Amino acid sequence: MDSDPKDPNETWARCLLTLEHRVSKQSFGNWFRPTRISTFTHETLVITVPSVISADWLKENYLQIIQEVVFEETQTRPDVTFRVNREVGPRLNPAPSPESAGYKKTEQTMLPLQTENVNQKPDHPPSLNSLYSFDSFVIGEGNQFAHAAAHAVAKSPGKTQFNPLFIFGGVGLGKTHLLQAIGNSAFALKPAQKIVCVPSEKFLSDFIDSLKNKNTVDFRRLYRSADILLIDDIQFLFMRGEHTQTEFFHTFNALHQNGKQIVMTCDSPPEKLEGLEERLLSRFQWGLITPIEPPDLETRIAILRQKAEINGITLPHEVAAFLGNYISSNVRDLEGALVHLMAYCSVHNTELSVQAAKYVVKERGPGFTSELTIESIQKHVANHFDVPLDILISKSRKQDIAQARHIAMYLTKRLTKFPLKMIGLKFGNRDHSTVVHAINSVKKKQSHDRSFRISVDRLLENIGRQYQNRD
Ligand code: ADP
Ligand code: MG
Repeated sequence: MDSDPKDPNETWARCLLTLEHRVSKQSFGNWFRPTRISTFTHETLVITVPSVISADWLKENYLQIIQEVVFEETQTRPDVTFRVNREVGPRLNPAPSPESAGYKKTEQTMLPLQTENVNQKPDHPPSLNSLYSFDSFVIGEGNQFAHAAAHAVAKSPGKTQFNPLFIFGGVGLGKTHLLQAIGNSAFALKPAQKIVCVPSEKFLSDFIDSLKNKNTVDFRRLYRSADILLIDDIQFLFMRGEHTQTEFFHTFNALHQNGKQIVMTCDSPPEKLEGLEERLLSRFQWGLITPIEPPDLETRIAILRQKAEINGITLPHEVAAFLGNYISSNVRDLEGALVHLMAYCSVHNTELSVQAAKYVVKERGPGFTSELTIESIQKHVANHFDVPLDILISKSRKQDIAQARHIAMYLTKRLTKFPLKMIGLKFGNRDHSTVVHAINSVKKKQSHDRSFRISVDRLLENIGRQYQNRD
């Protein structure tokens, strides 16, 4: 830790005392009380918080006030950044006061924020997010089998009967969490192992790039030298056709023959995967294929309480029960509602109560979705124009269908961060120049056709509203 100011913890404690008078009691308890300092110099202030949510919330809502108070205390204007370290949470009630000795505790493991991959150690596999651990995974009836298999695989990769391990289930049920937990746990047990963890889109685009750049040797070296290959959302791999599938087939064989572990997640069981070749299907059946089911009420409540605890908040049982009862669809939605509730109570300076939870679920609306996927935009547009979904993404050149398709592509580009290549892939395997053409044709029509522009704007707004309700 830097030595300037002299005692950074004490200086931060003083800042906190001032901040306590500038923000609401609830906000202070939720967001400021669990903070610690890891670096405090004239140039840099690194504030450690217990969760990504806290970091985002502080950054978005309180950065300026933090800067002001720091200036008042130190007459300096350091750059303020946030780091996540779950060790600083949970702060269960009663929480320590700013001047308590807790602030003198030194930090051990820091999780850098603002990168997609939150790592615990410099040599941690960069594709693993260390927040997704077995410890933070709540076990319930719907996921206990998948969890047990994942745990066994992490302990003895390639040496159990679960090779490959194929985990499937709906959106937001914890597939990625479990996949990453395998990687994190295996790494912690044996850091020398080579763990490759990628979404299937990455495997796909790496492969396509390697063909383009004529360096398939490097591609193969990367994927075939893994001790553990973790592939997320494998369903996207089989939409692209033969070459990718053949490449994956050989990667699979090379790894499996050498006793290396393969784990895949998917949105459906392998036999329902359209376009999956028989030879791969039979290989998937060599190991274990296990579903993750939506959590039951008890598990939903346990998850809510655990997420609250990670954020340093005590969630009254009746509030957890209310949210758990109300939101049964998936864990991501549960999390979203909880964050929304925490934010609501903080802004309005009210207790976490059933009444506040009722308000929040009403605000989020009955049909909100946490997933702004390409598919959800396609569905929305298909409904709007009354075109069957498969026709929307088909090769049909009928003018009204092609126009609806162009609008769907345009909205996807506006509302998501998916690369054009991915958008084309999801729209009937079109290439990226077709997507560019579609987007441009919408823009052009918007510029001279007012009613068209209004109708596209309205769609954008409607779908965007769902998006904003995410968290
Ligand atoms: P999927 O990959 O199945 O769409 P994720 O793994 O991304 O879902 O999970 C969505 C969110 O819900 C993540 O923040 C994850 O940590 C959380 N989550 C899902 N299942 C659990 C669980 N059993 N315990 C704790 N958190 C969970
Ligand atoms: Mg996932």
